[in-house]
Amino acid sequence: MASSYKCARCKQKVEIDQNVRCPYCGHRILFKERGAAIKELKAR
Ligand SMILES: [Zn+2]
Repeated sequence: MASSYKCARCKQKVEIDQNVRCPYCGHRILFKERGAAIKELKAR
């Protein structure tokens, strides 16, 4: 089940399945569309 997120940088709506990464700008910090939870992954 994919979740909807919004990119913290370009504000694009992003559907995430496996890779938590904005397909538009490559940013890795995405905000969950509903709720205040933030999913943040650190790049390695
Ligand atoms: Zn982005």
